[in-house]
Amino acid sequence: MQRIALLGSTGSIGTNALDVISMFPDKFNVSLLSTHSNIGLLLKQIDKFRPKAVSVVDIEKAREIREKLKKKKIKLYEGETGLCNMLEDISVDTLIVGIVGASALLPILTAVSKVKKIALANKEALVMAGDIIMKKIKKNNVEILPVDSEHSAIFQCIGTEKKDIKKIYLTGSGGPLLHIQKKTFKNITPEEAINHPKWKMGKKISIDSATMMNKGLEVIEAHHLFGIGVDRIEVLVHPEAVVHSMVEFIDGAILAHLGRCDMKMPIQYALTYPSREESAVKSIAFSKLNTLHFFEPDFKRFPCLEIAYDAARAGGTYPCALNASNEVAVGEFLKRHIKFTDIPKIIRKVLEDHKNITNPNLRDILEVDRWARVKAKELLNVISD
Ligand code: MG
Repeated sequence: MQRIALLGSTGSIGTNALDVISMFPDKFNVSLLSTHSNIGLLLKQIDKFRPKAVSVVDIEKAREIREKLKKKKIKLYEGETGLCNMLEDISVDTLIVGIVGASALLPILTAVSKVKKIALANKEALVMAGDIIMKKIKKNNVEILPVDSEHSAIFQCIGTEKKDIKKIYLTGSGGPLLHIQKKTFKNITPEEAINHPKWKMGKKISIDSATMMNKGLEVIEAHHLFGIGVDRIEVLVHPEAVVHSMVEFIDGAILAHLGRCDMKMPIQYALTYPSREESAVKSIAFSKLNTLHFFEPDFKRFPCLEIAYDAARAGGTYPCALNASNEVAVGEFLKRHIKFTDIPKIIRKVLEDHKNITNPNLRDILEVDRWARVKAKELLNVISD
């Protein structure tokens, strides 16, 4: 039995992960669940999966279920530090990281010396502190299995031939604005930006897909996961989203991973690796596919992608400042406080003012994360068209 801690159990990754876990009751046991504030769904999950403990980040919401959980003899962890405390106290075999943003960093670093496997759907923690995380993963001999669909695809293409990679083609559907004219970008609403043509995902990653920052973060994620320089990772727009990424080897052979757009696939692979198990995911009808398209991304229409590449090349704490300012800008766009086109402006300005720290330690990273958030918020009032 694999004992599982699922962070972000009420989100998009979390609910898909529980669907996968339900298919294999003799293989997986859910020990820990966590939510930010969706206690209604969490209670349903508790009744179905009977975890040992749960964590609720929102303290007001945690208070509402305190008595109920006491009666069920389920331990409740509360607030920002609850996730780390829970992972510290209760041992599990596998950690699934389905929470979004920088909040995943400390739970990952807490769990890395305690678990056997980390199934990682979060990309922001690697963008912030990839060197620190990967070093700890190697030191503790933990398996890291990517759940991000492109990275799961790359991982499967690479297999055991890690040293012989020439380049990685990171594919992306191009997001909901692929065919929208740039001059109308400033009027894009959060609803339009979230409406992704191929994937059903959480709000933050959906906005990142619309700006193409998602691909930028994924380039940095791939750089850390596979130890490949960012300039050997090429983003390709592929609107049909049938190929989930490709790896070219030194002899010129290229392996591609194809499949449907269903997050259950990479989640299941991460959990059952190194074996494969049956799933309900349907086959692709190749004869009905017609044509597959691949083209270069338009860096002018989607400046976030270029900003991310530049931050990745500069290294040090630039990617951390990139991520923090992007999280703030996306949050403010979702609240309709800024325009869609303000997102890259804010990020670019924060990076211009950033004083880079090379080889940062964890304290440096957390300080830059804090600084960049403050800086991005200050800019909200001064940006203009
Ligand atoms: Mg992805």
